[in-house]
Amino acid sequence: MTTALHNVKAYAAPAEGQPLTPTTLTRRAVGPHDVLIDIKYVGICHSDIHTVRGDWGLQTYPLTPGHEIAGIVAQVGSEVTGLKVGDHVGVGCMVNSCGHCTNCRHGDEQYCLNGTVFTYGYSDRDGTITQGGYSTHVVVDAGFVPTIPDTLDLAEAAPLLCAGITIYSPLAHWGTGPGKKVAVVGLGGLGHMGVKIAHAMGAEVTVLSESLKEQEDGLRLGADHYYATSDPDTIPNCPASST
Ligand SMILES: [Zn+2]
Ligand SMILES: [Zn+2]
Repeated sequence: MTTALHNVKAYAAPAEGQPLTPTTLTRRAVGPHDVLIDIKYVGICHSDIHTVRGDWGLQTYPLTPGHEIAGIVAQVGSEVTGLKVGDHVGVGCMVNSCGHCTNCRHGDEQYCLNGTVFTYGYSDRDGTITQGGYSTHVVVDAGFVPTIPDTLDLAEAAPLLCAGITIYSPLAHWGTGPGKKVAVVGLGGLGHMGVKIAHAMGAEVTVLSESLKEQEDGLRLGADHYYATSDPDTIPNCPASST
């Protein structure tokens, strides 16, 4: 199956530290194992900002960031079996790996011994530099494209592809569930997801925040306890608290 390259609209940083500007990207033709995704939403991760600023080392510009991608499958490659046109899908931080090293074979593609290909700014298997989701479309190996249930709004799903998995992964790894206690330090971008996800998994959730300013939000999101680390008096049985 041969398909044409796709010229798509995007935003890219033309050089280190420069504001993003409208541009056109050429996405590769959809290969046998690829899908073309019509991107509907993309989250803004602080990593995007660090990367385009050059905070994490020299980049190849122009650079289109974005690794919290949510969209709809628009085309599938001839060998793709798990996805079809119209499916709601996402793309997170990585889009390719060697597929045959020990780590890849065990499902740890993020530790690929031959180099994980991250969603933007990395050299892909075909030698091109990956470009992220601040764009209308992306072509990605279907093995790196999880489905999103139709019951979940795509706009709300997008941040789960980076911030969400960052929190979900350790909670799942450590067997979070009923009878377990989870403490979340800070109710920020990741912290508030930690509260929601740990609560949904059935754990007893405590937020340790610098102050009680966001206590109401924390309790509303599912925290059972909320203490201020700057004020020992709010922490029961704290040795430093006054009597
Ligand atoms: Zn991120
Ligand atoms: Zn590998």
